[in-house]
Order: sequence, then structure tokens, then C-alpha cells
Amino acid sequence: MQHERAEQYGRCAVVLDVDLDVPGAAAIFDQALTNGLTAIVAHVWPGDESQRLKNGHDRMKSASHLLDVITERCIEDGQGQLLIPNNQDKTHLSADVANLRDALDQTQRVRHGRDTGTLTKQQVTALLGLDEHVCLRQVSDERRESDWVKNEIRDRYEQRRAADYLELIGQEEVDRRIVLASDHVAAHPDDLVEGKDVVTCPVCNRETLAVTGIDDFGVGYGPGTCLACSYVFSSHAAHEEALSHMLSRHSKD
Ligand SMILES: [Zn+2]
Repeated sequence: MQHERAEQYGRCAVVLDVDLDVPGAAAIFDQALTNGLTAIVAHVWPGDESQRLKNGHDRMKSASHLLDVITERCIEDGQGQLLIPNNQDKTHLSADVANLRDALDQTQRVRHGRDTGTLTKQQVTALLGLDEHVCLRQVSDERRESDWVKNEIRDRYEQRRAADYLELIGQEEVDRRIVLASDHVAAHPDDLVEGKDVVTCPVCNRETLAVTGIDDFGVGYGPGTCLACSYVFSSHAAHEEALSHMLSRHSKD
């Protein structure tokens, strides 16, 4: 699980490093920071990354609680950086906790609105700085240039475009399209998981996404196009949805 967290941190941090203004930047920042801090705290102070609930279950701490753990347990270097133990040989990672907290305050405010351009370069630099920790080490030139990062950024802009389009056409037109979508017949039904020719669209949340293929796991998140908002659900986006579906199902086993 720690490796998946580290990887999530790395992917999200690199997306922001490549494009600071990507649509959804605030949510991506939170995801990167929460996963990165959880991996670090679990590595340095095992058990402190989660809290026990009244019902006896453990829950992962939020990014802001994880920063509290680090603030309590680490000393300052005299220049506003906190020194997090990094390795067996007693080296430390200097973490810019003040900038990370500022960024969190900001991202919490805009999570549900439009959030382009709210993060600063310093905040993303503070996020990338965590990568020096021995349990992360996920940000590399190779990753910056990866197809995954390019496809992820492209999909974020596509989601934004479709959301704008949805606003433009208005509710009445959307309702008309939902009715039409319910009569949709797949052009190549043999290429689909049975009964999955129209599924819920991640942008407009209606059951209007006409599926044109099968995802890598065959769980019904095939790529396609939404008949209401026009969102093009790429093979990359379909793979990611299917993967998170598989992971959440797996964690319940
Ligand atoms: Zn849609």
C-alpha cells in the first residue's frame, strides 16, 4: 500500500510540475500531499498516519493532521523548514511546512469551484521537495515526459471543455439529449461488456456516455463519448476509472 501511495504522490506532483494551471489543480495538490505525507509519516513513525475511530476502525489522517504530526515531532532548522528524519544514517529532509499549509488552506477553499491559477510555484516546489524522502523518490525526468502525464493533463482539459459546453447548451437541451441517449444502440455491440453500451458520464453525471470499447480490466468503463455533454472519455481515462474501481473492490476483500 505504501508503494501505491508513493506512486500516487509522484504522479500528481509531476502533473502540477508540468502544468501548474491544469483544471482541477487544487484537488490534484491535495491528493499528492495526502499520499506523500501518509507515506512519510507511516515510514518514520509507523501508526501515526492513522487514527482510531470510536467504532474501532482506523482512518487515514488528513493532510493537515499529518502536517500537525510532523510539526509536533520535528525541530526547525532556523530558516522555517522542519527537519524530517530521512534515513538510517540520520540525514534529514527539510520540509517547507509553512508553504504546504498555505497551499492546503487555499485548495480547501476552491475545491468545489473553479481552481485554475490558485497554486503558486513555491507551493508546488514545497510539494516536490518531499520527494527527497527515501520512501518517495518518485519524481524523475522520465516521469515528467511520460505518456501517462500527458494523457492525464489532456483529460483534465477535456473535462473542463465538456463542462463549459454543458453550461452553454442549457438544461432543456440536456434533458432532450438524455431521452435520446436512453434509445442509444451501440454501433459495434460485440466490442462491449454486455449491457454496458451507455454508462454514467464522469463530467455530467448522467447515464449518457456511449461506450465504444472495453477497458483493460473488462469491468465496463470502456472509452466513449457522452451524448449529453460531449465529453470524450479517452482510453487513458477509462483505464484510470477501471483501475480505481478494481483497487476499491480489492481493498474490501
Ligand atoms: Zn457527459
